[in-house]
Amino acid sequence: MKIIVQKFGGTSVANSQTRDEVIKRVREAREKGYRPLVVVSAMGRAGDPYATDTLKDLMIAAGGRPDISLREMDMIMACGEIISAVVMSATLCANGIASLSLTGAQAGLITDGNYGNAQVVDFHPERLLAHLRNDEVAVVAGFQGVTPEGEINTLGRGGSDTTAVILGAGLGAERVEIYTDVNGIMTADPRFVANARIIDHLTYNEVCQLAYEGAKVIHPRAVEIAMQHNVEVVVKHLSESGAGTIISNELGTGKDTHRFGGQDLRVITGIAHTPGLAQVSVIMPPEDADRELEMFDRLAAAHISIDLISIFPERKNFTITEEKVPAAKEILEELNLQYSIISNCAKVSVVGLGMRNIPGVMARVIKALTEKKIRILQTGDSNITISLLIPEKDLPEAICTLHDHFHLAAPPSDDERVFA
Ligand code: ADP
Ligand code: MG
Repeated sequence: MKIIVQKFGGTSVANSQTRDEVIKRVREAREKGYRPLVVVSAMGRAGDPYATDTLKDLMIAAGGRPDISLREMDMIMACGEIISAVVMSATLCANGIASLSLTGAQAGLITDGNYGNAQVVDFHPERLLAHLRNDEVAVVAGFQGVTPEGEINTLGRGGSDTTAVILGAGLGAERVEIYTDVNGIMTADPRFVANARIIDHLTYNEVCQLAYEGAKVIHPRAVEIAMQHNVEVVVKHLSESGAGTIISNELGTGKDTHRFGGQDLRVITGIAHTPGLAQVSVIMPPEDADRELEMFDRLAAAHISIDLISIFPERKNFTITEEKVPAAKEILEELNLQYSIISNCAKVSVVGLGMRNIPGVMARVIKALTEKKIRILQTGDSNITISLLIPEKDLPEAICTLHDHFHLAAPPSDDERVFA
């Protein structure tokens, strides 16, 4: 039995026209001899009747506070994908394809109890395997699972990608196909960069970094799990015929890579960004190591994730998401710390596997942005990523500037390095 998992995002299941395209993709897979398993997100985008954000707003309007009743929030948010799965399954049946809808729990996904951002800790494949053997197309509600105690958990925004990859890995699928509203993973978000280019082939590592740095086309945890289990993932457009982006362990050959030290490496893969950040700066004398630890512990305990951490003897800088500012302030004040917060920041990141072999990338990134008079508030880097914190108002210009600077719109030729 050759299994593939096909995941359809919010826009792909939004209305009857797009659901017809879904039917075509399922048919295509069956005609090629596959047994497809379908995973769906909630229907549409914010403002649409059954979209995740709409359900969340419904809850808030009813007086439910998202920061307190995480359990109740998960109860309502899980409904979006369930509605979508039922509707999709009905559409498949109406088109003569035997199908049934399943919640995450019914599909065998067991989670760890962390409401709103749960991890899948176990998967029982028996039921799905039985449906696959019967040649029924199970449509699984993405983004959710259930604790061993029977509590519903959601997996965090973008979590349907993770559902698809976990099912693919657990069922030994040949491939996981992620259908969305763009033609693949591109050198930058096409909403910001008009000439962003589709990348044919990427490694797990590169996609993981892009996703961590905010490229929301795929969820980072999904890529991590795909890498662990060596599951091939393809990202492509729902209704256009392009081959999309193949994510695997191999670097592509030819146009998209550069020879470097006997290996094919791209220097810069793409630009990712994260809006909605705030920079926190805490003044603290060096002898205050205990309070520093306590601060980081308290922030972690309140589920406030911090990024771009720079520790200096007298000052600790880090970023948090804008929505966590009130909770962070509360903690800093309780600890009697001297601090300042700069709101309306964004992070722009340059990601590239080949970067670690080439000196001076950071200098070039800084020069490109300062030439445009974009203020850099903080920087951070790993071996394949350089990130800069900037004012959010400058984000579109920063993304385009860096995309141009590294000539990402043009596919590099075999003997030319982007960085030459
Ligand atoms: P879905 O609902 O199908 O999961 P998402 O909105 O989560 O879709 O992801 C698709 C969106 O990701 C695109 O519309 C695009 O604006 C955005 N995006 C961000 N970075 C990239 C990138 N590097 N390549 C392609 N799309 C990107
Ligand atoms: Mg998504």
